Amino acid sequence: MGKIHKQLVIAIDGPAGSGKSTVSKIIAQKLGLMYIDTGAMYRALTLKAVRQNLDLRDEKALAKLACSTRVDLEEEGGSLKVVLDGEDVASLIRTPELTNNVKYIACVPGVRKEMVKSQRSIGERLGAVLEGRDIGTVVFPDADYKFYLDADADERARRRHKELAKTGMNVNLNELKKDVLSRDESDMKRSVGALKKAPDAIFIDTTDLTIDDVTEKVLSYIKVRGEDSIS
Ligand code: C5P
Repeated sequence: MGKIHKQLVIAIDGPAGSGKSTVSKIIAQKLGLMYIDTGAMYRALTLKAVRQNLDLRDEKALAKLACSTRVDLEEEGGSLKVVLDGEDVASLIRTPELTNNVKYIACVPGVRKEMVKSQRSIGERLGAVLEGRDIGTVVFPDADYKFYLDADADERARRRHKELAKTGMNVNLNELKKDVLSRDESDMKRSVGALKKAPDAIFIDTTDLTIDDVTEKVLSYIKVRGEDSIS
C-alpha cells in the first residue's frame, strides 16, 4: 500500500452492535490512520461522573465536568487504551450498568460540545477513522467518506452478548436486547447529536455479513488520494 494523505477522515456511524467498532479498527489499521472510538470517550466521562457521585440529571455539573476532563485514546499492542485523566479505564467502561448510564451524559449539549471539539481536533490534525453516532452529521459533516452501518436488533444483541461473554460477563440475551433497543431509542431521540444517517452516507446492512465482508465493502468505496484503490 502506498502513501496516504494524513488528513483523510472517514466517518462510521450506526447503532450498538452494528459492527462499526470492529470494522473501523480494521479499516484504520489498513489505511494507517488513527482509530477514534468516540463512544469510549462518552463512556469514560460517565465513569468519572459516577465515581464522583454526580447527579446524572444535573446538566450544568456534567458540562462543567466535561470541560475539566481529559480523555485520550492510545493504541498499545493492538488494543485501545482509554485514558481518563491519566488512568487507563478501558476495562471499566463496558459493564452493562455503566453502558446504561451513558445516555444521561450523551444528551447534555455542553458535554457534546466539548467532545466534538476534541474529536475534531484529533481528526483534523492527523486524519482518522472515527466511529460513533454523530460523526457524519455533526463532528465531520464534510468527511471524505461516510458510512452508516445497521443490523437487525436480534443480531445486534447476539453480537453484544458474544462480546461481553469474551470478557467474562454473562448477561441474559433478552435483557441485552431490551438494553440495545432502549439505547437505540435514547440515541435517536435526543435533541443534540442524535443518531441518524447523514443524507450522503453509504448505508450497509451488516445483518448477514461477516466482518471481512463489511470491511471489504467499506474499502471498496475508499480511494486513497494518489491511488486507485486499496487492497
Ligand atoms: O459506541 P458505544 O456503544 O460504545 O457508545 C456508547 C454510548 O455513547 C452510545 O449509546 C451513545 O449514547 C453515546 N455516544 C454518543 N455519541 C457518539 C458515540 C457514542 O452519544 N459519537
